[in-house]
Amino acid sequence: MEKIIRQLKGSKRVFIASHINPDGDAIGSLIATALALDALGKKVCMYNESPIPAVYRFLPDANRIVRAIPRTENLRDYDTAVILDCGNLARIGSIAENINRIPVLVNIDHHATNNAFGNLHCVDTAACATSEIIYRIVRKMNIPVSKAMATAIYTGIFTDTGSFRFANTNKAAFAICDEMVEKGVEPYTVAQHLYGTYSLGRIKLLNLALDSIELLLNGELSFMTLTKDMMEETGTQPEDVDGMIHYAKRIEDVKVAVLIQETHNGLKNGSGRSCFHVSLRSDGSVDVAALATAFGGGGHHRAAGFSSEVSLRELKGGIIRWLQNAANRAGIPC
Ligand code: 5GP
Ligand code: MN
Repeated sequence: MEKIIRQLKGSKRVFIASHINPDGDAIGSLIATALALDALGKKVCMYNESPIPAVYRFLPDANRIVRAIPRTENLRDYDTAVILDCGNLARIGSIAENINRIPVLVNIDHHATNNAFGNLHCVDTAACATSEIIYRIVRKMNIPVSKAMATAIYTGIFTDTGSFRFANTNKAAFAICDEMVEKGVEPYTVAQHLYGTYSLGRIKLLNLALDSIELLLNGELSFMTLTKDMMEETGTQPEDVDGMIHYAKRIEDVKVAVLIQETHNGLKNGSGRSCFHVSLRSDGSVDVAALATAFGGGGHHRAAGFSSEVSLRELKGGIIRWLQNAANRAGIPC
C-alpha cells in the first residue's frame, strides 16, 4: 500500500477504471478514488465501458464516468492507471488492450482469483469490498472524507455485502459504514435509491426468472435462465437482473445456484451463437471461484462468474460435470 500511496502522490494524471457491468462496489470505489485524487489536485478520468445502471446514477459525480476516452485525450497523457475491483485486467473491457500505454498500472482488488496483474498491487481477499481498501488508502493519505466520498464508499460496502447479509460482511464493514454515516451519509436515502423502487418490467422479468428455475443433483443445484427474448418481452436491461440469483440460491437444500443470462455483457459474437454470462453463488461448501476459473472467469469462494459462447445445453452439462467431479474429488455434497 505504501508504494501505491507514493505513486498516487507523485502522479499528475490518473486514469481510473473498474469492471464492465459494474456493481455498487465497482462504481463506489471508482468515484471514491476519483474524489480522493481530486482533493489532492490530480487530474483524473473515471472510466467504465458499460452504461452505469440507473440505480447508481444518484451517486455524486457518477455523470463524470466516461465509456470512452474523450477525443481530445490519449492514454499516453496519463502517468498512472488505477484498476479497481477486477480479478484480471480483461475485466475492464476492450481498453485492456491499450492500457499499457500508461506507464504504471495499479491493481486494487479483493477477489480471491486476482492474478496480480499490473506494476503495483493491493489485493486483500479479507476486505469486504474494494471500497474498504480505498477507504484505508484515503485514511492513510489523510485525505478528508467528504459526504460525497462517504456516500460512494458506503454504497460500495453496502452493496458488496448484500446489505450486510453475505459471508464477506466483516467488522470493517460496520465500522466504516458507521463512520460514513458520521460524515453525512443518509442510509435510508441510499437504500431507497438502490432497492426502493423497481420498474414493472423488472417485476415481470422476476416472474419469468422464478418460473425458469430448475433443480438438479438432488435439489442441491439450481439453474435460473434468462433469455434475450425475456428481456425484450419485459423491456428490461441487463442491470435489472441484479439480485435475482438470490431466489435460486435461497431454496432449501440448494448449495450452488447458477444464473445463466443470454448476451449479458456485450461480448462480440461474430459467430452468431448465443453468448451467456453465468453468475454463480454457493453456500460455502463449493468453491464457485474455482468453477468459474475452470470456465475462464473468476470471483470469490461464494460468488463468481464467467462468460461463455457454447450452447445452453453444453453450458449446463459442463457445470453439472464440474460439480460432480468436484464432489467425487472432495467427497463434498452435490
Ligand atoms: P456476478 O455474478 O454478480 O456478475 O459476479 C459475482 C462475482 O464474480 C463478482 O465478484 C464478479 O466480479 C465476479 N465475476 C463475474 N463475472 C466474471 C467474469 O466474467 N470474470 C471474472 N474474472 N470475474 C467475474
Ligand atoms: Mn467488489
